[in-house]
Amino acid sequence: MTTKHNWIGGKWVPSSNGETRAVRNPSNTDEVVGVVAWSTEKEIADAAEAAQEAFPAWKRLPGPARARILTKAAQILAGRLEEVAQLLSREQGKPIGEARGEVQRGVDLLQYYAGEGWRSVGEVIPSAAPDTLMYTIREPLGVVGVITPWNFPVAIPLWKSAPALIYGNTVVLKPAADAPLTALAIAEIFEEAGIPPGVFNVVTGSGSTLGDALITHEAVKAVTFTGSNAVGSHIAQLAAAKGIKYQLEMGGKNAAIVLADADLDKAADIVVSGAMRFAGQKCTATSRAIVERSVIEAFADKVVERVQSLPVRPATDESAYLGPVVNQSQREQILRYIETGKAGEGRLVAGGGVPQGPMYEKGYFVEPTVFVDVRPDAAIAQEEIFGPVLALIPADDVKHAIAIANGVRYGLSASLFTNDLTAAMRYIRDIEVGMVRINAETAGVELQAPFGGYKASSSYSREQGRAAIEFFTQTKTVAIVPSGGL
Ligand code: NAP
Ligand code: MG
Repeated sequence: MTTKHNWIGGKWVPSSNGETRAVRNPSNTDEVVGVVAWSTEKEIADAAEAAQEAFPAWKRLPGPARARILTKAAQILAGRLEEVAQLLSREQGKPIGEARGEVQRGVDLLQYYAGEGWRSVGEVIPSAAPDTLMYTIREPLGVVGVITPWNFPVAIPLWKSAPALIYGNTVVLKPAADAPLTALAIAEIFEEAGIPPGVFNVVTGSGSTLGDALITHEAVKAVTFTGSNAVGSHIAQLAAAKGIKYQLEMGGKNAAIVLADADLDKAADIVVSGAMRFAGQKCTATSRAIVERSVIEAFADKVVERVQSLPVRPATDESAYLGPVVNQSQREQILRYIETGKAGEGRLVAGGGVPQGPMYEKGYFVEPTVFVDVRPDAAIAQEEIFGPVLALIPADDVKHAIAIANGVRYGLSASLFTNDLTAAMRYIRDIEVGMVRINAETAGVELQAPFGGYKASSSYSREQGRAAIEFFTQTKTVAIVPSGGL
């Protein structure tokens, strides 16, 4: 199998120490999906320098010219949708239907941010002095380091890189070790779209080696990160010490609140989808359902009935509702939480282990698992599990439910199921999350709207939509005074 190299300065470059790493299919670990370069600090430095060299010309290029390249990339990705979706599904274990949806989202992100290349990026401000033209312009930061997780290997690299690029920055992407092939497919697409050498670079390898090298390289002027809180706080410290801009999107412990008046069948469909699709590995996945006590038994029955019939399959199987989890250590962590749940934190009513049978023997599968009567302070109700595990927690009323929902360190997204307008408005006012949903899934947010969380879920900035301009640019205020008067 040929090795996929790094994409640096418009060339495909191996690791300087010759090391490579096989990427295996988490649905069947016998299958090697591809081989990638396992790179060193040298490749990071080369990429950062290539990006720095490319920056002045890219910055000067008119927005509409940058837009044409992003539009072309969108068209090429659309043409390769099925191929990239299959690669994503095999590399990372995302059910093929959702993988197609994610690649389509990548196409949409490229198109959306291409449009930004045509839009105004500043404002004219009335000056108090006569005949003076005062205005703002948004300027790029320079080389941006992009560090991404494995769970959305097309969408997250693109929702960071596309705005970075359209506003005139150049990019060095360090994708997750569990999903580098998909990131290299994105590099191929930019290459084919004719992006100038060095404007977009991808270096594959271990985050603990390459991450620090990227953030501390003197050419790098900003870092945008999505991943765990532990790595995020490390990145924040490095970036703050160096005095560069940083943006962090991290964990969640997203709650769905179900009130007694809700349509329980619809709520159960949506909660199960939020909790179990893609094996619960979305940062916006539903991991707690906080249910009014009078209906919790009825709701739990509906959830269990649905969960027990979910098809758990290899990710490329068209009928897969959930596939495997991404790797062995994630599976071990999820199973540890399930054991904690069984040891007295709740009552197990569905799943609780590893599915049995020849289809599952070589993959990292976990049964969709549900606990009821979980205490709000239990580990499975407080900590991010990132697996197909749902905790049902009883509440007295909407006020109590909101207090429980807010009683965790995270604040990414939340749902409320009700037709009671008063309850809904109280929830909108009091819930401490960045994305507030009513009669809708905690996951499933849209790319043209701001994305991000409260509390420990993010670093108070927002991604996607028009909000991206805040992170990827800095503002210059200009005043022009005609020296001779007008
Ligand atoms: P992770 O372990 O934090 O890794 C994220 C990225 O950081 C990977 O590219 C990783 O590289 C890299 N990295 C690791 N150590 C580093 C270091 N010392 N310095 C710099 N970079 C380093 O997270 P993950 O396990 O991939 O993803 C799961 C987490 O992401 C969950 O907590 C989830 O909630 C969060 N997430 C959040 C959002 C959101 O938008 N809020 C979206 C998706 C996921 P390697 O892969 O090589 O280790
Ligand atoms: Mg990790």
